[in-house]
Amino acid sequence: MTGIKNAPHGGVLVDLLVTGKEADALKARVPRLKKVVLNERQISDIEMLSIGAFSPLTGFLTKSDYDSVLESMRLSTGIPWSIPITLAVSDDVAGTVSAGDEVALTDDEGTTLAVLHVVEKFAYDKKHEAQQVYRTTDSAHPGVAAVYAQGDTLLGGPVRVLQLPKHDDFLSYRLTPKQTRARFAELGWKTVVGFQTRNPVHRAHEYIQKVAMEGVDGLLLHPLVGQTKSDDIPADVRMKCYEVLIEGYYPPNRVVLSVNPAAMRYAGPREAIFHALVRKNYGCTHFIVGRDHAGVGNYYGTYDAQMLFDEFEPDELGIIPLKYEHTFYCKACGNMASAKTCPHGREHHLILSGTKVREMLRAGEVPPEEFTRPAVAKVLMDAQA
Ligand SMILES: [Zn+2]
Repeated sequence: MTGIKNAPHGGVLVDLLVTGKEADALKARVPRLKKVVLNERQISDIEMLSIGAFSPLTGFLTKSDYDSVLESMRLSTGIPWSIPITLAVSDDVAGTVSAGDEVALTDDEGTTLAVLHVVEKFAYDKKHEAQQVYRTTDSAHPGVAAVYAQGDTLLGGPVRVLQLPKHDDFLSYRLTPKQTRARFAELGWKTVVGFQTRNPVHRAHEYIQKVAMEGVDGLLLHPLVGQTKSDDIPADVRMKCYEVLIEGYYPPNRVVLSVNPAAMRYAGPREAIFHALVRKNYGCTHFIVGRDHAGVGNYYGTYDAQMLFDEFEPDELGIIPLKYEHTFYCKACGNMASAKTCPHGREHHLILSGTKVREMLRAGEVPPEEFTRPAVAKVLMDAQA
């Protein structure tokens, strides 16, 4: 498969959903199995694993892979992988499970989504994981807080999925990696740039996307709609922003809007690598990495995420990072620009902080159109009302 630029990570698109007789046999065993109730992030991980968004992973990490991901950002096979995908359980549950067991993984209503074949049960050092993955042990960091709050034992092993998590929103936008790949082929795209976001698209993001689009066949606008922080803008509002923006300002045959059901971990640089690998599985050949990608608070340096890509050989990641500066509207240039293209001083630049924009919207004040398209501003203001 070498030479195919948008091959899935590890070469094969994983599909863990079992059907037919295999599913019937597995379902027949479920009533006798120990049950583990998954939280929101674990359910999202099951979906990502099942549809191949986490290829080449076929389940939750066993110890050698876990250690290897923490220490070297690689699976034990040497393939790059930056975020440990693990199943943590409480001591109560861990006490009743042994290696070799099958465990039913259920949602909070008791529906079995998947069956884990437990290969290994192992203890882990939460502080060490926090330091390696999040570069901090501060419990105020939302990703670190999640690690500290979860169970003390990890269950590793392959997963077979009986049923994907049910969704009642964004149904027309829930394309799996297989489906985005088919869509790109239909559109005749050979090169596709992925854009991760958990925010509305302001002019600065639009500019970056369009600069990237000048060099590739199409854009996958791929907002994350899994679990985020409570102060991030709700996914339904963001989706409306994307819809009005695409409708008014993007050629329809050059952009695909689809949602990414992953949960945010806020791991900054390591999550940027992870986001890129996931988009590779969705069929992207390029990935936009902004400043402070997937960061939170002041835990990461502005360029840490972009620099981390340099620690890998381009061929081993298999997706090309496109690194962008902070962009803005410059009144003297009369267009969107960045420090790379504009010679003028800050006084000419229209820069508004996220906090300032939220204040304006709450006060019923329309942000300048050089900052936010009026159609997008309207969606955001309506959401405030
Ligand atoms: Zn300028």
